[in-house]
Amino acid sequence: MKTSVRNPVYFASAIPERMDRNLTLPARFIRLLEKMPIQDRIRGLSVVVKMHLGGGLGYSTIHPLFVKMLVDHLKAGKPRRIIVSDSSVEGCAVRGYTEETIGAPLVAALGPKGKSLVPRKTGWEPLPEIKLGKPLIDADVLINFSHVKGHGDCGFGGACKNLGMGCVPAETRRAIHKLEGDLKWDSKRCIHCNKCIEECPTHAAKFNDKGDFEIFWHHCKMCQHCALICPHKAIRIRSRQFDLFQEGLARVAKQVIAEFKPGLVFHLNVLTHITLFCDCWGLTTPALVPDIGIFGGEDIVAVEDASLKAIKTENYIPGSLTPPFTLGAGKHLFEKIHSRDPYRQVLALERLGAGSRRYQVSTVD
Ligand code: SF4
Ligand code: SF4
Repeated sequence: MKTSVRNPVYFASAIPERMDRNLTLPARFIRLLEKMPIQDRIRGLSVVVKMHLGGGLGYSTIHPLFVKMLVDHLKAGKPRRIIVSDSSVEGCAVRGYTEETIGAPLVAALGPKGKSLVPRKTGWEPLPEIKLGKPLIDADVLINFSHVKGHGDCGFGGACKNLGMGCVPAETRRAIHKLEGDLKWDSKRCIHCNKCIEECPTHAAKFNDKGDFEIFWHHCKMCQHCALICPHKAIRIRSRQFDLFQEGLARVAKQVIAEFKPGLVFHLNVLTHITLFCDCWGLTTPALVPDIGIFGGEDIVAVEDASLKAIKTENYIPGSLTPPFTLGAGKHLFEKIHSRDPYRQVLALERLGAGSRRYQVSTVD
């Protein structure tokens, strides 16, 4: 039964109260989908389910069982077509994603050779032009089906990251990544004593092949140790640029949403096996907190905010962090790990008018 709550976010818990299959997450996921008005709106339309299908030896992306359940639910709404999509779908069969297992064809969001793209102007000077995958935005309905996890560049990756990075080609991804970090290294002052490299706790700093000082921003904790230890003050780092990265991510995500008519975009965040890094690393590390469940709604800001609030530092599983990462300062668990406030992308989306943090969570039985 649908409810009339304003800006509802539905939640299916991963924690059953007793040993009853009907209280487990897949069963609750179906009941969550039934609360949402997806089936009512997709009749005769084409639907794209945007996912991150992982890579390499990763095994923590959304289990194919949930994809099949979602696809079956969509089919009951009698859409014209359903596709399941990621920027590339190569090699995902080894992780269990095939048309046979999930019930719908897997289609590369950027086209078979990654060249089916549509340019868009953003009107935002730091990232003036982006490209989006045509097969994805050609659909009528978007189901943004995201696995929530940590992320070295933006603190966490959920619905915003699934759209902001997952629907664009490498050139746009590179342009977004260029928004991160802000390093000034003075080669004339540097005596190559290597103190800055030795002092870096996450091995993010190095001298490249040309002998220039470089930082791998994904791993950088902005601790400033490299700058402070330098006897010749050759390094200067400003941290505010990480806000620009999250802003860039939010702007692209907002643009993707804007490609679809109002009422035809739905967000589903899956909070199971929440790892340190994004699924694109092609590996799975231990879960940082116990499985939480699934949040679903039509408002990306609300779904992201509810997801972040559900990931609590007090539920951190001791020993689950992979060295050299440690828990440092910060309010949110992901900020303690990655030194980035993960809410920045959510606040940016809200400021851009993509949604609101005023919502009501309704837990399904
Ligand atoms: S700021 Fe800290 S983490 Fe970043 S490169 Fe310098 S020492 Fe490494
Ligand atoms: S600590 Fe300073 S002087 Fe020494 S290698 Fe690093 S940048 Fe150069």
